[in-house]
Formats: sequence, C-alpha cells, structure tokens
Amino acid sequence: MSELTEIRKKYELVDLFCNLAEQPSPSTHEEKVINWIQNYCKDNNIPCTLDNYKNVVIRIPATDKSKDSLMLSSHMDVIGDDSPVKPYLEGVNIHAEGRTLGGDDKAGVANILLFAKEVANSNISHGGVEIMFTRDEESGMSGIHHAEFDKFNSKYVLVCDSDTLGQFEIAGASYTLLIISVKAPKGGHSGIDIADKTRKNAGKLIADIISKCPQGLFYEENGQTVTSCNLGGIVAGDFKVTNIINTDAKVSYSIRSSSRSKEEELKNEFRKVVDDFNKENEGIAKAECVFEEHLPPFEKSNDEYLPILFETSAKKIVVTPDITTFHAGAETHIYANKTNAKGEKFIPYLVGLATVCNMHSSREYLDYTTILKGHEVLQEFFKDFNRD
Ligand SMILES: [Zn+2]
Repeated sequence: MSELTEIRKKYELVDLFCNLAEQPSPSTHEEKVINWIQNYCKDNNIPCTLDNYKNVVIRIPATDKSKDSLMLSSHMDVIGDDSPVKPYLEGVNIHAEGRTLGGDDKAGVANILLFAKEVANSNISHGGVEIMFTRDEESGMSGIHHAEFDKFNSKYVLVCDSDTLGQFEIAGASYTLLIISVKAPKGGHSGIDIADKTRKNAGKLIADIISKCPQGLFYEENGQTVTSCNLGGIVAGDFKVTNIINTDAKVSYSIRSSSRSKEEELKNEFRKVVDDFNKENEGIAKAECVFEEHLPPFEKSNDEYLPILFETSAKKIVVTPDITTFHAGAETHIYANKTNAKGEKFIPYLVGLATVCNMHSSREYLDYTTILKGHEVLQEFFKDFNRD
C-alpha cells in the first residue's frame, strides 16, 4: 500500500481532498467535480442544490433560529487542464504527477464539505450554515458574478481561499485599468516640418505626462499597502520608422486600492496631470484619461467581531492567526459589494484553512497536516460563533 493510501485511510479529510483533486476542473469545465460533490451530499444527508449558473449551494437549516447563520465559500475550478490528477505523497506534502494539484481551492472545498457533513449530522445548537462552491474563479470570476446573493441570509462570509493556514484577510485591493492617450493631430515629416513649434511629437508628449504621473506605492497604513499604481505599457509610433512626427501615443496603468477614498485621491492626481497638460498644449495636442473598474475594492469593515473571534479560535488550536490585508483580488471583493436577502451588506473575509505552496504551477503541493489543523480551527470557530 502506498504511503498516500495509508494517510487517506487514516484521515477522512485527506481522502476527501484527494477525491476532489482527482476530478479535473479547469475553469468553466467543472462538471466532474460538481457531479462528485452532488453524490457526496446525497450519500451524507447534506441538502445540496445548484443555482442558475451551476454554482453548488448547500443550506443547512438552523437548529436555533435566534442565532446568526454563517456563510462559507470557496471555488471549484483550478488552474490546469482536463488531464488526470494523480496525487502522491512526499513527506507531509501531497503533489500531483506532472501537473497542478488543485489545492487552490479544493483544499477549501474539502474542508467545508466535511464540515457540512459534520454539522448536518449533528445535534449542536447553531444558527444555520450556508455554503457556496463557485465556478470559474481563476479565469473570469463568472461564478461569483452569477451568484444569487439575495437568496442567502448570512451576513458574515468566510471565503476559504487563502494559501496559508491561519491567514485572515480583512481587506483587499481593487483593480482599475487606466489608459492615458495623447493626440497631436498635425504630425508631419521629421525633416521638413520639424521646426514648426505647433507640431509636437505625441511620443515625447506621453513621456512628459508619464514623468509627472505617480508610480508605485501611493498610500500605506501600518506598514501595509493600501493604494498603489503601476505603469503597464507605452505605445507610440513605430520603432523602425523615424521620419514621422508621431500623432498618437498611450500608456496603461493598473490602480489597486483597498480604500475607495484613497483610490479617488490617486485618480485625481492623474486627472490633474492631464488637465494641466491640456491647458499648456491647447490647440496643439489633447490628452485623455479613461478609467475602467475591473474589480471593486474589498474595504475593511468597522465590525471587528469576526477577526477577534477567529484569533481566539485559532490560538486554541495552536495555529498562529495572521489578521492582515492583501493587495490583490478575490471573491471577497464581490461579496463586500453585495447585499443578502435581508438587504444587509455582506461582511466577507479571506481565510486560510490550509497551506498550499507553488500555487498555479506543476510544483504545487498541499501540506496535509495544515488542512487537518485548519479543519479544527473551523470547528472551533463555529462553536465560538454559536456560543450562547
Ligand atoms: Zn483560489
């Protein structure tokens, strides 16, 4: 018997994780894993349905209606193709032969699914558990975008998709694309027309604009990045053609911020550069800023109940809690900007219930001891959440 087979026999959660990992589920092609989860739920008395977009939804009714329900969420798709997933053990780490394991985010799905089985088949007093396993997080977030948020009663959501055991992220950054373009319509020949001061080169003009624009860290709080911007690409003229006075040029930036007001401040700095430029170059050239919000910010909530609760539960299991913020995107950002069936704003957190290393690569692995610990943290947290 292989080492992994022994570990799978010993720990139900490791076996559940491997079973889920063995169902390849590239983004938007999650049929196999959805089917597997539906059968698991049928066999284990877990009430499971699919929403209109085939996200999996599980609702375990409250045994005490005076208590609040809790929502748990993770995504079913993984980076990687439809090829077979063959897990193997190396020390305490589970890898997959020659491809991604899919610990991101099958670790979250496995943890929540076993938890659902435990709660659905116990008689502990609780306010209900709502679960959503989404499709297509990695490529387009279409699963979460199609979610039927107004059918959930919970206010608090644990999005179990962080890659480090004990992590509890309370805010995350938006993503906005900024394109600044310049048009200097006169153009002309680089020899004959070069002395004409009304024929400015758009390539040079975009460089002037860039030199006045912010770049990098814009705002931080307690040593953590809140707002930043980064230049992506510059397009002007043709590298091989030097006898034309360029008429068009553009530059792209990413803007990331976990604070809407700081993001607005940063955008205003860009706008001011462009306004000043347009005043200075009236009649000769014109620049324009276009902002496109791709992901809204996941702003920090003033409600500190859950972070405190998580810190306490994690410490009881001897897991070091890391209450922090992250400068990237996740499904938390969508929840944070939606409301539930009662019209309350969701308060989500990005939580790490296992440690997955080298995510999104064929060197990916899951330390199985961390998922076991993560499960204990979840159980303890739920007890504390439902304490009288
Ligand atoms: Zn993920």
